[in-house]
Amino acid sequence: MKVYVSFWLPEAPLNVLREKHTVVVNASDQLPSPDELVTQLADADALLCVGSKVDKTIIDRLNPRLRIIANWGVGYNNIDADYAAQKGIMVTNTPDVLTETTADFSWAILMAAARRVAEADKYVRDGKFKGFKPFTMLGADVWGKTIGIVGFGRIGQAVGRRALGFGMKVLYHDQKPIDRKKEQELRASFVDLDTLLRESDFVSLHVPLMEETKHLINARALSLMKPTAFLVNAARGPVVDEQALLEALKSKKIAGAALDVFEKEPEVTPGLLELPNVVLAPHIGSGSWETRTNMGHVAVKNIIAALDGKTPPNLVNRPVARKP
Ligand code: NAP
Repeated sequence: MKVYVSFWLPEAPLNVLREKHTVVVNASDQLPSPDELVTQLADADALLCVGSKVDKTIIDRLNPRLRIIANWGVGYNNIDADYAAQKGIMVTNTPDVLTETTADFSWAILMAAARRVAEADKYVRDGKFKGFKPFTMLGADVWGKTIGIVGFGRIGQAVGRRALGFGMKVLYHDQKPIDRKKEQELRASFVDLDTLLRESDFVSLHVPLMEETKHLINARALSLMKPTAFLVNAARGPVVDEQALLEALKSKKIAGAALDVFEKEPEVTPGLLELPNVVLAPHIGSGSWETRTNMGHVAVKNIIAALDGKTPPNLVNRPVARKP
């Protein structure tokens, strides 16, 4: 059967797929346009979806043979999974394998914002470091402070576990509290979102992007945060109203931000680039060689199961009917 891979992936998972199927990989260094994607999928049985948007209009143009869209990523807001289900197409994601790596990176940008690492690096490169001075580029302490984690699922909890090493108080907000034993183990307290925003020194976002979480952090939410607090977003850009964030940063309503994702990726709201108290990264939360390779292996497992007529391990929708 034919599998189309919409962007280059490490060879190891692709070779596993090649043992059973014909694999066509987009050879360009750009994602395929919607028309190219539809053309490539005209005779395909599976799509290994690497960063492509697959909305209703594309799904309507897909060949009826296509059985599975295997997303390479845990967040699958780029795919209209419910509509795919109506058309009998399975959608899968790649949870778990990227949890720890993404939590590491959330901490990397949190620390970078608090301790002004990117600014400091530029300062030295620009030749401004002329010798130690006691008050050069002072930042904010991280240890012993309060972190508020919004979305306490796999990645949120991994971020919380790391906070214990910094002797921090951990608050979290989710749709519901996690089980008591886990809560005690992570020494985390469930609070409503407003309380979390008011009491945290660092607010770290780990919710999926859905209608309910779009602009969860808006002007009102930002106005509740402490003027000394930092916002960290390694979830999805539209969870934050980026214009409101820019205003909050410019008017010093909050102290700083660390962003791995953007509302209109790859665009960054004009103005953010000029602010020294924002750390910016190009959506690399899960970006280690090991993890990105493992995400490929998980996506490949999902495809092989689906093309063997089995239920893939990471099915996220409920297709109305199985394709023969
Ligand atoms: P997860 O285990 O599903 O955790 C998400 C948590 O958010 C769940 O506990 C979920 O609750 C909760 N939630 C959903 N809606 C909420 C709301 N309105 N308010 C509060 N909490 C809400 O997912 P994960 O594996 O931790 O991944 C989280 C997100 O991180 C992904 O969806 C993806 O967008 C993002 N991500 C980004 C990168 C990157 O490169 N920057 C890498 C990996 C992941 P329920 O389970 O009850 O729905």
